[in-house]
Amino acid sequence: MVSRVIPVNSFDLVLFGATGDLARRKIWPGLYHRFVAGQFDQSSQILGVSRSEHARAEFQDIVRQSLLEAGAGDDATLTGFLDLVDYISLDAAGDRGWEALTAAVRDDAVRAFYLSVAPRFFGPIARRLKDRGIATPDSRIVVEKPFGHDLASAKELNAELRACFQEHQIYRIDHYLGKETVQNLMALRFANSLFEPLWNASHIDHVQITVSESLSVDGRGEYYDQSGAMRDMVQNHLMQLLCLTAMEPPSKFTPNAVRDEKVKVIEALEPVPMSDIARGQYRKSGDQAGYLEHAGNPDSATESFIAMKVNVANWRWAGTPFYLRTGKCLRERLSEIAVFFRAPPHMIFPGTETPQGNVLVIRLQPDEGMTLHTTIKDPGPGGMRLTEASLDMTFADSLKGSEQPQDAYERLIMDVIRGDQTLFMRGDEVEAAWAWADPIIEGWSERRLKPQPYDVGGSGPEDALLLMHRDERRWRPIG
Ligand code: NAP
Repeated sequence: MVSRVIPVNSFDLVLFGATGDLARRKIWPGLYHRFVAGQFDQSSQILGVSRSEHARAEFQDIVRQSLLEAGAGDDATLTGFLDLVDYISLDAAGDRGWEALTAAVRDDAVRAFYLSVAPRFFGPIARRLKDRGIATPDSRIVVEKPFGHDLASAKELNAELRACFQEHQIYRIDHYLGKETVQNLMALRFANSLFEPLWNASHIDHVQITVSESLSVDGRGEYYDQSGAMRDMVQNHLMQLLCLTAMEPPSKFTPNAVRDEKVKVIEALEPVPMSDIARGQYRKSGDQAGYLEHAGNPDSATESFIAMKVNVANWRWAGTPFYLRTGKCLRERLSEIAVFFRAPPHMIFPGTETPQGNVLVIRLQPDEGMTLHTTIKDPGPGGMRLTEASLDMTFADSLKGSEQPQDAYERLIMDVIRGDQTLFMRGDEVEAAWAWADPIIEGWSERRLKPQPYDVGGSGPEDALLLMHRDERRWRPIG
């Protein structure tokens, strides 16, 4: 398989929050990898912007350090990349530094402004970019999650951005959408004729979407306590995975055609009764701190785990529930979509149990790939005994010799430069997801519901198991 890197046009990328955690861990390494791959060259420039004062060489050293930590070699390529990097110290919500930025951007390059800063700066930065004429009608603006903490705040952020930029210029990042597997889910569904005829309630019993994390919230407990698993993960990442699994085939693969179909899925979601939700909070065990200690809030009612049954009320999915599950401090770090096909309606092999239906597992992490669980004959003599076998496709293995899957940020940043919004959330999509999530969150706080404690290193609280047992189904194991 031959890999093809299609170079992007010359660009000026202005990275606000260039000294921050996200920039150092993801954005700088992502840009560097694309430079190494030859996707852009010395004709582009990257302007790091943040509040602190740094001379250019000093800032380049900060970037160099981040890249070395991310595995870059200290060689001519790294020096070549750093030559593209300049720095401007600027106050996002004041006047300092903006003239220097105005002078630094060029007329003949694509302009992209990446806001890797707290959301309270989105409005002030957008306004200054517009008022000072730094943003042109063709410029792009990229914003990071969280995009609001409820419908009202999301609408406010949308209004602030839309006052200065048009929707086709706004790129709301959900890095889950940049994962190779997520795009492969669309290829699997819409570029193969095998699955699509089966992709409905007649053939699919249920779908499980799991994003489990082994890490705690230690170090960001205070922030997380204001959010919880529903806001931090379900409203955005899990919702996106649900949409891509459940959506109708768009008539063409264009940003708005794809996003129109995703919005329709969110709008078809039924309200979720409290009885279909399990909330959990990891507990203290011996010397090991629990959620309440990490959050610094002994009375916290914020969930670090949630499992829920979601119904998509349309012709394709009526009667086929989607079970969503996500949490912290679970046994393993794992993200997957598991599609459970219905069991065969009639068993023709005497003396054997009815086999389970096929399960298609689409893995996002740790090793991106897909596995189809099938039933085959147990090899050898001894009659017609059945056993399970898996058809496994781990992308890192199957794509040997071609370019390995890129990190989500690499792909998404290059999409911004190309002007392709397919993998970014549209404003109405974000608002629709909040409109669905808000009543659920309000229901907990009105009833003062406390989450159920669960053990660190397990698979969540007992209520999550009961949610499945009640429906005579079982969760796939976490690890
Ligand atoms: P961070 O480490 O706190 O960095 C914040 C950045 O903003 C720094 O570069 C800081 O500059 C700059 N800044 C703060 N006040 C400023 C001002 N008045 N003017 C100009 N620059 C200012 O934050 P982060 O973790 O990188 O997160 C950035 C954004 O991404 C947030 O919205 C966050 O929610 C989101 N996000 C982060 C992650 C993650 O893994 N970190 C993941 C998903 C989303 P100085 O260093 O010069 O003060």
